[in-house]
Amino acid sequence: MPELPEVETIRRELEREVVGKRVKSAEVHGTRTVRRQPKKQFITRLDGVKITGVDRKGKYLLLRLDSGDELVIHLRMSGQLLRAAAKDPMPKHTHVVLTFTQGGQLRFVDPRTFGEMFVTSPDTEDVDAPELAELGIDPVEEPISWQTFARLLTARKTKLKAFLMDQTVLAGIGNIYSDEILFAAGLRYDRDTDSLSSQEIRRLYRAVIETLHEAIKYGGSTLADDQYVDLNGKPGEFQEHHKVYDREKQPCRRCRRNLVHKAKFQQRSTFFCEVCQV
Ligand SMILES: [Zn+2]
Repeated sequence: MPELPEVETIRRELEREVVGKRVKSAEVHGTRTVRRQPKKQFITRLDGVKITGVDRKGKYLLLRLDSGDELVIHLRMSGQLLRAAAKDPMPKHTHVVLTFTQGGQLRFVDPRTFGEMFVTSPDTEDVDAPELAELGIDPVEEPISWQTFARLLTARKTKLKAFLMDQTVLAGIGNIYSDEILFAAGLRYDRDTDSLSSQEIRRLYRAVIETLHEAIKYGGSTLADDQYVDLNGKPGEFQEHHKVYDREKQPCRRCRRNLVHKAKFQQRSTFFCEVCQV
C-alpha cells in the first residue's frame, strides 16, 4: 500500500500538473471508487470547478477546489492516479476520469478497488470523513520537535512498530517505512514504547524524519507485488535503498554478517536484523 512518501510524490506532481486547471467533466465507472456519496452528486460537485491547491494528510490527498469543496483521494492497496491525453487508450480498471478544459485528463485506475474518491467540504468533513479528523500528526507536513515526539511515544504503552503505524498518532507510516525507520534507529519492532532511553528516543525521532524525506527524494517504493507508480506511470526507486524491508535472508547492509530476519507482527511481515536492532 502506498505510504506517506509515495502519496507525497504524487502530491508534488499534482501540484505541478493540475493546480490551475478547470474540470470540464467527471466520469465515474462502476460503483466501487465513489461509494461514500451518490455518483451524481460527486459528478455535479466537480463540474466546472478549478483546482486551487493540493494538500496531503497522512495517506490522503486533498485537492482544494474554487467552489470551497475538496476532492479527497485515498489510493489504498492498488489505486493509481495517472495523467493522460484524452486520446490515450483507457487502461483496464479505470474508475474515474477528470477531463480538464485546458485538455488532458486525470485518471484513477484501481484493479483491486479498495481506493476511494469523494467530494466533501471543510465544514462537513467531520461527518463525511470522520477518519480524517482522527489522523495524527503528519511528520513531513507538520515538523515536530523531538520533545513532542517523545511525549507522543511515552503516552502510549505499545510495541514500537504499532506506535509508528498508528494513524491517529503519526499519519502516513505503514508496514514498509516502519521497518526501515526501526532499522535506521537500531531498534526492534517489538520493543515497548516505555522502554527507550532518551538517546534511543532521539534516534527514533531522527530516523522517522530522515527515512521519510529520503524516500520522498527517491520517489517512494515500488514493490514486485505492488502497484505503485507516479502520475506518469513511473515506479519509485527507494526500494533499491531498502535496508531490511522485503530483504529476507539477504545480508544485512550494516553488519554484513547477519541475514535479514522476517517475523510476523499483527498478521503482517516485519523485517529486521537481530544484530543491529536491539
Ligand atoms: Zn545487521
